[in-house]
Amino acid sequence: MGVKKIETKTFVRNKFAEYYQECSSNILSPPFIEKREFGFILFSERMMMLRHKNFKNIDTLRSFLKSTISSDVLYSSAYYEEPAAEMEEKGWLGADLIFDIDADHIPTSCPKTHNIWICNNCGATGKGITPTQCSSCKKQNFKEKTWFCELCLTSAKEETIKLIDFLMKDFGISTKEIKVAFSGHRGYHLHVNNEEIRGLDSLSRKEIVDYIRGIGLELSFHGLEKRRDRISPILSGSDSQDLGWRDRIAQGTYNFILTSSREKLEKIGLKKKITNLWINHREDLLRSWEKNKSLRHIQGLGIEKEREIIQQGVENQSAKIDTVVTTDVHRLIRLSNTLHGKTGFKKTDVSITDIDRFDPFKSAIVFKKGRVIIFVSDAPQFRLGDDIYGPYNNEEVELPTSAALLLLCKELARVKGET
Ligand SMILES: [Zn+2]
Ligand SMILES: [Zn+2]
Repeated sequence: MGVKKIETKTFVRNKFAEYYQECSSNILSPPFIEKREFGFILFSERMMMLRHKNFKNIDTLRSFLKSTISSDVLYSSAYYEEPAAEMEEKGWLGADLIFDIDADHIPTSCPKTHNIWICNNCGATGKGITPTQCSSCKKQNFKEKTWFCELCLTSAKEETIKLIDFLMKDFGISTKEIKVAFSGHRGYHLHVNNEEIRGLDSLSRKEIVDYIRGIGLELSFHGLEKRRDRISPILSGSDSQDLGWRDRIAQGTYNFILTSSREKLEKIGLKKKITNLWINHREDLLRSWEKNKSLRHIQGLGIEKEREIIQQGVENQSAKIDTVVTTDVHRLIRLSNTLHGKTGFKKTDVSITDIDRFDPFKSAIVFKKGRVIIFVSDAPQFRLGDDIYGPYNNEEVELPTSAALLLLCKELARVKGET
């Protein structure tokens, strides 16, 4: 079989073009498409964004996608009188309530293993979170090569499930009004389409964010208060019928007591003696918390540490959503069933009832035919479908198109040829 030589960027663009030629009928209209602004990141001038586009119906959008090949397709959460006008003249009519859950905002241990930063000035490199300043040359200009793994996406999914629970139980939003999707890269998006919410301004949306993130909770409003040197329940007895944060604090603190390791307890500053007491009397502590919301079993804990432990309970229950995305009422967000320029995956809708079983590394894969020879500079091991690939280091490999495209989009490889 002959091998065609081809330039990487052209190769990726051609694959995206192929997708939009064959699959544009899968791209569905968001509600009130005629009132939305669309934005496109074009292949021709990478990072150049074409904004303020508007389409009267889904057919004109589909034709546009076939003729103008974009690496990313976005649309406004907002509705406008004149979506194609300049920002000040658009005439804002309202916006869907949207949430972004990105692995970036979830404290997992894996970025240490799969994210690399490179100093643009002196070339120093390191793993994990990018520093604010280069330790060698003191400059603040970095290139980042981030990866996303099973743990990243499983954590993002867990946060999404928590968010759904908040929206349904605490805000009374129905499943019909919620749409969840895998973003195609490091997380999940959630849209709430509800007429009453549509008109909320940025500040009101910030209130919703703070509630869901558990920011600024005042314990006395949630069944607990300071009494002498302890935190005690305002009412004793079972709170299992409670709603909102009162129930979440009870549950989250219970979970923390149940799962806290010695390392975690020492990290929040418990003394060795108290940590020992905690570990040896965990069962008693659980029972006492369940029955009367009391940490009294641990002698000498002190009110500050009690607060800290309850704060861990809040952390356990809060959903790690991105504040900026939800409070920005002009936000552009990726359209479902379009491709993500950093992965070649598609943004994929997820059924709420099936979210537990949703596998992004299976469902979001697009390019299932053909194989490509690429030269990989550096890539960690990853799974697509049932197959495991890598790790690769400065080597030439022949991969199925979907796996090759992922590494090419991530700028970890270049094309040698298509077989
Ligand atoms: Zn440097
Ligand atoms: Zn990860």
